Amino acid sequence: MKGIEEILESMKQAEPVCWLNPLMERITPGEDLGGIRFVEMKAAQARWLRFMPYLAKAFPETEAKKGLIESDLVAVSRLEQWMGEQGLAVSGKLYLKKDSQLPVVGSVKARGGIYEVLKLAEVIASREGIMKPNEDHSLLLEDRCKQVFGKYTIHVSSTGNLGLSVGTMGRTLGFQVIVHLSKDAKEWKKKRLRACGARVEEYEGDYSYAVQMGRRAAKDQEYGYFVDDENSLDLFAGYAAVGFRMKMQMMLAHRAVDASHPLFVYLPCGVGGAPGGICYGLKQLFGNHVHCFFVEPVNAPCMMLGMVTGKHNNISVYDIGLSGLTEADGLAVGRPSAFVGKAMEPLLSGAITVKDEQLLACEKELEELEGLLIEPSGCAGLAGFNQLSKSQELQEYIKRQGLEKCMNNATHILWATGGRIE
Ligand SMILES: *Cc1c(COP(=O)(O)O)cnc(C)c1O
Repeated sequence: MKGIEEILESMKQAEPVCWLNPLMERITPGEDLGGIRFVEMKAAQARWLRFMPYLAKAFPETEAKKGLIESDLVAVSRLEQWMGEQGLAVSGKLYLKKDSQLPVVGSVKARGGIYEVLKLAEVIASREGIMKPNEDHSLLLEDRCKQVFGKYTIHVSSTGNLGLSVGTMGRTLGFQVIVHLSKDAKEWKKKRLRACGARVEEYEGDYSYAVQMGRRAAKDQEYGYFVDDENSLDLFAGYAAVGFRMKMQMMLAHRAVDASHPLFVYLPCGVGGAPGGICYGLKQLFGNHVHCFFVEPVNAPCMMLGMVTGKHNNISVYDIGLSGLTEADGLAVGRPSAFVGKAMEPLLSGAITVKDEQLLACEKELEELEGLLIEPSGCAGLAGFNQLSKSQELQEYIKRQGLEKCMNNATHILWATGGRIE
């Protein structure tokens, strides 16, 4: 295996690398993992359920599933066949988790962003005396509730998708929303935000800068609230709740997950909240039989850098001479969340970096083979899977985990995190 020096050297040169996390531990599901209590994730699941009657009415597209915001898990056999033709025969079966199609906002950020706003709404509704905890949450559709929420302003910093998710949910409930966007944000995301009545602040700075500005603006306001992507346990718990649904979806797909049927998951990573929360949720449900890998662009590998060096948010990709620039706007983050990085130390299997060209090639393949419109960030799972499949590190990992004899039983899930919905 490559030493830290060698990995850092490749990272500096913006070359694709695979890294295995030496700190990963064997864990016991149901216990607190990485310092985060299991009860947080269970509370998130319960809160999602309480809000279903409300969500079904507020967003008619969720009505068929009674207000559940969830995406499909689908086998991608044409993609699997195509990979075989490229000399990358998949051992096991390949699935796509279509968070690119998540209702309401079309990205993984629906899980964290919507959840945090729902929790805030419950807290305020209870404080202002407009709803008791076990009352039907549909009453929040009433104008008098919207007026109460209208006193509060939610601030969120984003490269686009978190803003869309918090903006849409916040405005629907009646909150004022101000979205602080980094220079990476795409035009169509700004348009959608303005259309739903959110205020958009644009900065020439990067994501970390937008976070600073958002945090400051919220602090200056009496009724201001900041969705803190770098530190939020609520966002994390909202993402983690997917673990319960994944357990069910794997059963419905007749895919066993146990000692001889490993589950590999490839998650696009920006600041870390979404992939971190999902990894946590999967570890809680599938224990040591799930193997999670984060995927980042070669020019913005902030989580890999933070974890490889152990410095977390005390080091940025600029410190090693990288630009932080990438077509994958959702992953254009120069400094990771330390909260997530530390929580991932015992849980994450490894991380992979990929070039923008690889992301764009994957975007094209997913569209041509599977008819899916996925934005470059959302394709990183596939690009990372390709990269890892070819690597020495995967062989090393399989050996270390004692999986040599069961890779043919493996399930690989490419987590498609964002769709092109412009
Ligand atoms: C935000 C985002 C990610 C990564 O989530 P982080 O919480 O920033 O790590 C991945 N894909 C898409 C499409 C995103 O918008």
